Amino acid sequence: MRQKLLSRLICLALLAPGVLATAQESPQSPSAPSRADILRGEYGPWRANNDLLSYDLDIRVDPEKKFISGKNTIRFKMLKDDTRIQLDLFANLNVDKILFGSTELKYTRELGTVFVDFPAPLKKNSVQSIEFYYSGSPQETGRFGGISFRKDPAGRHWVTTACQGVGASVWWPNKDQQQDEVENMRLRVAVPSALTDVSNGRLVGKTDLGDGYTRYDWAISYPINNYCVSLNIGHYEHFGDRLGDLTMDFYCLPENLEKAKRQFAQAKPMMEAFQKYFGEYPFKRDGYKLIEVPYSGMEHQSAVAYGNRFANGYLERDWTGVGVSLKFDFIIIHESAHEWFGNSITAGDISDMWIHEGWATYAECVYVEAMFGRDDALKYVNGYKSKVRNRQPIITARGVNQTPSQDQYFKGALFLNTLRSVIDDDKEWWKLLRAYCDRFKYRNIMTEDIVAFFNQQTGKNLTPIFDQYLRRAALPALELRFQESDGSVSYRWKTDIKDFAMPVKVGRRTDWRVIQPTTEWKTMKTGMKKEEFEVATDLYYIEVVNDEDAIREVVSKYVDARERIDPKAAEELFTSDADQLVSSGEWRRGRDEVVRGAMASSRSTGGKRSITVESIRMVTPDVAIVDGRYELTGLAGGATRSMWTTLVLKRTEKGWRISAIRNMLPAAPASSR
Ligand SMILES: [Zn+2]
Repeated sequence: MRQKLLSRLICLALLAPGVLATAQESPQSPSAPSRADILRGEYGPWRANNDLLSYDLDIRVDPEKKFISGKNTIRFKMLKDDTRIQLDLFANLNVDKILFGSTELKYTRELGTVFVDFPAPLKKNSVQSIEFYYSGSPQETGRFGGISFRKDPAGRHWVTTACQGVGASVWWPNKDQQQDEVENMRLRVAVPSALTDVSNGRLVGKTDLGDGYTRYDWAISYPINNYCVSLNIGHYEHFGDRLGDLTMDFYCLPENLEKAKRQFAQAKPMMEAFQKYFGEYPFKRDGYKLIEVPYSGMEHQSAVAYGNRFANGYLERDWTGVGVSLKFDFIIIHESAHEWFGNSITAGDISDMWIHEGWATYAECVYVEAMFGRDDALKYVNGYKSKVRNRQPIITARGVNQTPSQDQYFKGALFLNTLRSVIDDDKEWWKLLRAYCDRFKYRNIMTEDIVAFFNQQTGKNLTPIFDQYLRRAALPALELRFQESDGSVSYRWKTDIKDFAMPVKVGRRTDWRVIQPTTEWKTMKTGMKKEEFEVATDLYYIEVVNDEDAIREVVSKYVDARERIDPKAAEELFTSDADQLVSSGEWRRGRDEVVRGAMASSRSTGGKRSITVESIRMVTPDVAIVDGRYELTGLAGGATRSMWTTLVLKRTEKGWRISAIRNMLPAAPASSR
């Protein structure tokens, strides 16, 4: 179930090849998807022909032999007449048999995929059920281990799963994708009787099997992502609490009981803060659990995995480096935020995984605001800037199992902080967030759904803003041009999205003024000096480029290229029709001749050179004249030379470029500065 929205979205994806092309064109984008990625990533015909209803996973785990065996009973509804469905199970695990009633079904395995064939077509709208028997020693793999058979510090068995990315099919057979979720699930786990299994949902049964094993029966009464289904098998100690009628249960190793009681006290205020802003905890019937594990943590639905050393920060580090992270336990807050963002609202394809990570990271900031105030929240979210790369778009190619870069977390959160500033009405913002959580509760959505929702709710066209931040690599750049003579500033956005228009706050921090830049130049009077004029870059995640700084940078790169005798670097700084009149009266015409001549003279004179910019005049918005003192020191015999240089720079598609240089010897007496 939970796949209604997607059919429309698949059509959108097909109609918008540009979106996919962007990711593929970027130089850092991965090579063509492998067959394995297509099998895992594509919502192909044998996945799309059915709708999951429930799983009943019944397994026995032998920690000594690192061996799993059992079956998954998979119920589904056919959406069309067909004879085949596609399931997934890692190739190293054995398919023992697949039963359809009493009939043993034929199947074909290809890498991690199992195509299951029925003897006769299953009818559209019919509800079907198969029993998928399997066994084997699953491999430990991926960032969090997939499934790991460990020992705790006291030497007792400790088996845990964390298979996001790798895929749940690393340890159990299922329809391993994100679009379609079961409506509910049973999880029956038999473990050696000295151990306990804590999984998702409610414990509804515990049976001594009489052979040294005890079976724990867990009932999950909500839709659940495959990767959230988890085992936590260990020597667990339990304590509990309540928040109203929500049960909160905590599991840790016995040695850590006191530490856990102290640290897990943060769960309650976290829950209160999140419920205030995002609505009721989405899995109340299943309760909330926090379970100690040997890795850092994971958002397992109603059974959040915790391994953050019972200390604040993230693995005892100040995670955003601005002094706020150490006020709380990152894993408790971040992973629990996923109950709303990732578990309740799920991305239909990992291409749009910012729907989990960007939103959960932003939820950290909401938590900080609720607990410690707005100033700390702004400090905290802006601390994430140092982690953003802006090298690839946040949203990757769809249907090919392509995980987005880390920017999905940090840039995702900074984007949502920016969106709040665009809305510029906190009451409205909190209302929107709450409505978003309600609207998409228990659904699998794509970014298009979010954009449509925000556009509709605000009556604004926010599509270009979403597109620039999520579907393009570069940040929007606010270009500024100051005319101090009449106290005015010209401004525009430089973006990849042509109709990008986003308001931004500028002027004085104590009295921001909202301007509405577009990609065309606009001018306003400020009566302010360039140094006084600020842009609210803590409220909007943007780049600010003012022409003077950009022009100074080109001039200094030119000097640097001559100093290092680097013709390649120099070439990039000139327009193709650039010319130069050197002090001897000789002309160099065209970029190649200018660069060749400059390199030759650097080589022959040696010494050290510098240009001190004395003035920058904008003669049009796209042409600037720069006057500077050009100094050469350490020439042969210790001589120095000094001359005036005038450079003409033009604004091009690639930024400011030098189009003419005039050198005049000698320089006037020492600069007035
Ligand atoms: Zn996360």
